Amino acid sequence: MPKSRRTTGSFGAKFGLAPRRRYSAIIESLKSSYECPKCGFRKVRRESVGVWSCGKCGHTFAGGAYQPFTEIGEASKRSEREALASKVKGPPSQGGSSL
Ligand SMILES: [Zn+2]
Repeated sequence: MPKSRRTTGSFGAKFGLAPRRRYSAIIESLKSSYECPKCGFRKVRRESVGVWSCGKCGHTFAGGAYQPFTEIGEASKRSEREALASKVKGPPSQGGSSL
């Protein structure tokens, strides 16, 4: 079985395949550059966690930890779906433990 050497070197054989794939996808998204919201050039790179900076115009802005633009819409959709699912299941049983 051929071993693929990507950005998951430090993981060794731990954690299985799926999280390692996710990890390497995150690292690749960290390394790639993004379009600047100010000047439009594809020169935005990650300065540090949550901080993104444009190499063209110097515009620095806050964003997601791994990508400059967080998918808030998708996250809210997901939580909405979870709320609906818990509604179907019914409210959590009360009076189990009292302080
Ligand atoms: Zn810019």
